[in-house]
Amino acid sequence: MKAIINGRILLPDEEVFDKALLFNEKIVGIVDKQSALRQADEVIDAEDNYVSPGFIDVHIHGYKGADASDASQAGIRLMAKELLENGVTAFLPTTTTIEWETLERIFWQLRELSKESERADYPGAQVLGCHAEGPFINPLRKGALNGDYILRPDPDKFLPYSDVVKMITFAPEMGGGENFIRNMKLYSDTVLSIGHTYANYDQTMDAIQQGVDHVTHTFNAMTPMHHRDPGVVGAALCSDVYCELIADTTTVHPGLYPLLVKAKGYKLVLITDCIRGGGLPDGEYTLGGLPIFVKNGDCRLADGTIAGSVLKMNQAVYNMRKYGNVPMHQAVRMASLNAAKSIGIAKKKGSLSAGKDADVVIMDHRCKVLKTFVRGRKLYER
Ligand SMILES: [Zn+2]
Repeated sequence: MKAIINGRILLPDEEVFDKALLFNEKIVGIVDKQSALRQADEVIDAEDNYVSPGFIDVHIHGYKGADASDASQAGIRLMAKELLENGVTAFLPTTTTIEWETLERIFWQLRELSKESERADYPGAQVLGCHAEGPFINPLRKGALNGDYILRPDPDKFLPYSDVVKMITFAPEMGGGENFIRNMKLYSDTVLSIGHTYANYDQTMDAIQQGVDHVTHTFNAMTPMHHRDPGVVGAALCSDVYCELIADTTTVHPGLYPLLVKAKGYKLVLITDCIRGGGLPDGEYTLGGLPIFVKNGDCRLADGTIAGSVLKMNQAVYNMRKYGNVPMHQAVRMASLNAAKSIGIAKKKGSLSAGKDADVVIMDHRCKVLKTFVRGRKLYER
């Protein structure tokens, strides 16, 4: 059994001092330091740093040169390992809008990789399945996704993969959208997320009523909010859906973070939307076959369209804490428990509660990650 002592333990609703975190592959509990020292055979001194649940990224395309859309198992393994340095202990590799046949190949691979990452000796963050961003999107709001591969919403395409595709970003206003939602809700647990959409407020509220309960990178690639035409953004803020936010301070102006915190509370989910250039120097990369230029943390197509980010999850937490005016435990919750709840895995992951997987991060006061544990094993140390 391991114990982390002298840390500021971040629980969903508070920060705890003068206690210790006790764990093996699961969290055993939060106990007095003396009791922890008696029970543990390995003691880790957190030296007044934060002890946080591991971060869960439900929307990430790539990192360190790899991209989920490459259909490369080695690429996903590389991401799983390298993301540990940002405190990510579980993630949904996110595909873009590419040829359907390639997507199917990736779903097969991710099905295997999910199982592989559950093994006790796996050296990286857990692969939770797949987030498919498209191909059922609206060409009018395709953003940086490739318009050549857009398809109409069709449940028969995704139902055979509903065990591995945990989330789909789609535009409900496209022909067949209603039928798609109905069948996916009937026959799968896949989370339906509205995004890359030109839906108006009423269409969005209808889709939410039918079962859409997640919003992909809120504010980006959707109808904006106007007081006489509230759009997807208005519907997202005024309903009970989970809302993703790319908290890199450029994709959405940080002046809006407090509004999102107030409007969404426990339903705000930090994501990175990171592309393959993440963790690498500025330069030219690709997303879904399109060239992307990364400069000073800004990712754009040649025509200037915003194209994902190179945000790291620990930086997103830092930014949210700073600009959202929230305490650290609340910013962390947006990258852990809220994310876990949004994809239905909160019984196993997302907080430091007894019985959950011991996915733990020790980070300093600027959110620099010092140590990352996945199911109790230390897999990263700065
Ligand atoms: Zn994306």
